[in-house]
Amino acid sequence: MRFEDYRLATEIKRNLEAMGFRRPTDIQFKSIPPILRREDVLAIAQTGTGKTAAFVIPVVQVLHERKKSARTEGIKCIVMVPTRELALQITEVFLEIGKHTRVKTLCVFGGVEQAPQIARLEKGIDVLIATPGRMFDLASQGYIKLDHVEILAVDEADHMLKLGFLKDIRDLIRFLPGKRQTLFFSATINEEIKKLAYSLVNSRAIRIHISPKDPVAKNIQHAVAFVEMDDKRFFLERFVRENPDIKILVFVRTKVRAERVCKAMERVGIESQTIHGDKEQQERQNVLELFRQGTLKLLIATDVSARGIDIANVDYVINYDLPDIAENYVHRVGRTGRGDKKGQALSFCAEEEKAMLTEIEQFLNRRIAVLEIDRNEYRETIRMTEDVPDKWKDIMAEIEEAEKWKKGKRK
Ligand code: AMP
Repeated sequence: MRFEDYRLATEIKRNLEAMGFRRPTDIQFKSIPPILRREDVLAIAQTGTGKTAAFVIPVVQVLHERKKSARTEGIKCIVMVPTRELALQITEVFLEIGKHTRVKTLCVFGGVEQAPQIARLEKGIDVLIATPGRMFDLASQGYIKLDHVEILAVDEADHMLKLGFLKDIRDLIRFLPGKRQTLFFSATINEEIKKLAYSLVNSRAIRIHISPKDPVAKNIQHAVAFVEMDDKRFFLERFVRENPDIKILVFVRTKVRAERVCKAMERVGIESQTIHGDKEQQERQNVLELFRQGTLKLLIATDVSARGIDIANVDYVINYDLPDIAENYVHRVGRTGRGDKKGQALSFCAEEEKAMLTEIEQFLNRRIAVLEIDRNEYRETIRMTEDVPDKWKDIMAEIEEAEKWKKGKRK
């Protein structure tokens, strides 16, 4: 099935084509029809599966049709998200898919001045994308009127609960009309998330679960390398030098570490930037833009900034430190191999992180392929030897071969 076969407005089809979206991904295939039929949807799908467009396409279609046939007023759809980055990213998808349609979109979030957001709100909008806190603030001050809302979309609900947004969500729901369509998305599911989901969607909600067995998308090839803590920066240096043309997103455990790795790279003449919670919003956006354009090739991030990042062509994710929470592994490596692209990820695991690796493997329900590294070999980097043989690609090819072989054997 291709998008051109869907009953969608010509404008939307054109926009999808311009974005290079020809066929729906699994989650899109499963959720677009029920959303168009105005049913509630409860979907478990992680980032990278195309889950944003899975609700943006049908929401734009529904609202565009509505505005063609009737005069409407007020906000008709609200999208609740945990972070500013995700809010901006979803807004971008709404703007792209909704280009030349009648649907007007606005994004609001905390940490910036309210006034410009209020001015835009007063002009009239159809879709509001926001973090729960700022949305609740604006609603309780009377700047956001929610009595015409027909659709509530909650994205990355699990992350919202982790950030302590439960009360804000509940407070906000009180402002919403009881009769509405609810679209609930979460990357993971547990009792607490189920409870929240069932309190929001109706009992006939369509339930969709994408890739429950292996939470890492199939198009991402990921491996682990055992690297001693003190050697990690040398190994990163070597990796960057051997792969000068690829865009690498590096994850570290803390802000301090992010800055430290950045400095270490600077000392050896490798340009990098950091993105973490201590940085101003504008600064984060600027760095992300440089990375998006490809001017910046090496970006060092913490988990806090991880969820919202969607940079279409991150070639490689490096877990410089393993994440503290197993589930974050999935979110980190999910920054590469988005949509139908292929992606690669490598985790540096020190002796003291081996217990965490086991936890991650349990969470994934599988072992992670091990990339064998000869310590003496990368130690050469320390001596700044440039002409080390480029074995990297061969090793990755071997892993791919082994995976294929294993798959063949299982069949
Ligand atoms: P998401 O899971 O919403 O974060 O989307 C992940 C990535 O997949 C984004 O970079 C999208 O641009 C891309 N994408 C989403 N849907 C499609 C599609 N049908 N075909 C190709 N790429 C897609």
